[in-house]
Amino acid sequence: MTEEELKQFKAALSITAVATALGVPVVRGRCRCFFPTRHAHGDRTPSVSFSEERGTFRCWVCDDVRGDVISLVQIVKNCSFLEALNWLKETYGFLVSGATQNASHVAKVAVREAALEYSSPEPQKELVSEDERKKIILSFLKMLSPVDKTPAAAYLARRRIYKPIWDKMLLRTITDYGALNNKLKETYDLEVLKYVGLFSEKGNLRYYKHPLFFPYLDTKRRSCYFQARAIDSTVVPKELNLRGTVPYPYNVSALDQKPGWVYLCEGVVDTLTFLGQRIAAIGIPGVRSFKTEWLPLFKNKSVVLCLDKDEAGRSGTEYLQSVFAQAGIRTVVLGEGLENVSSAMKEGDDINSWFGGKK
Ligand SMILES: [Zn+2]
Repeated sequence: MTEEELKQFKAALSITAVATALGVPVVRGRCRCFFPTRHAHGDRTPSVSFSEERGTFRCWVCDDVRGDVISLVQIVKNCSFLEALNWLKETYGFLVSGATQNASHVAKVAVREAALEYSSPEPQKELVSEDERKKIILSFLKMLSPVDKTPAAAYLARRRIYKPIWDKMLLRTITDYGALNNKLKETYDLEVLKYVGLFSEKGNLRYYKHPLFFPYLDTKRRSCYFQARAIDSTVVPKELNLRGTVPYPYNVSALDQKPGWVYLCEGVVDTLTFLGQRIAAIGIPGVRSFKTEWLPLFKNKSVVLCLDKDEAGRSGTEYLQSVFAQAGIRTVVLGEGLENVSSAMKEGDDINSWFGGKK
């Protein structure tokens, strides 16, 4: 199946019919989320909507629950891109008739390419050990420049995040993409660079459009995980996380096991905004990335939940409230009870804009 044939195949499928075939009841273009525990009341009011016209679906709470008919099969059957495509081809084989032998060879190539593009974060074979992988990430971060006097600094200053925080959190930037790209290729094997997630399948350093780096420092101020950010507001997505699992929240040092409050934000920029105000804060890349195995880190802490003031933020807040409550950790929601105060967060605000940061 060529890319064009794949497109035609997908276009020929009704996403609602596929959902029904998967045993997912779609009522008036909606169904309950496949991850009900992430939702309040098990998603009693369905959050996933389908667009028959575009052949897509999305959950308005879970960032990762969205996509086309193939992603739908992947999520529901918890399988790979390739397995999902094969299932669709078996079920709707009549739509792929006319595939000659030659075409089936093309299909294999196309599918392999597609599989690479959509492949799961962890390649099957371990090319370097986990320790080695961490060392490479650390040495990569050491090759980056401090943000001082770069476009990244201007970006941060607009958001009222200043030098003491740049230094404290070891913010870094790429000043010469080409030179860094070459240096990495000279230092490491290309396959290794791809394996650890720094390089794209095409063999170049990712982050061409994401030059601002937020390392996730551990308590010894070392880092084997980071988030890269675009500073040009037209770039989508604005953030690129290093592939693989998030090892701990951003600024995990604030979880020092001493009694006290910690402010939990979505995103690094909001976290840095609090740190600039000398408020103990931690960040998670998104509500869906919060891991229950992090709960012991919150020992002796009470948590102020500071998610964005919008629908998704409110729903995420409810989810985190229940997770923390089950673990016996006290939470309050930032600004709760202050709704009528003129300085309270407005609808659509995030922490940074509330503190006067400009987008
Ligand atoms: Zn959901």
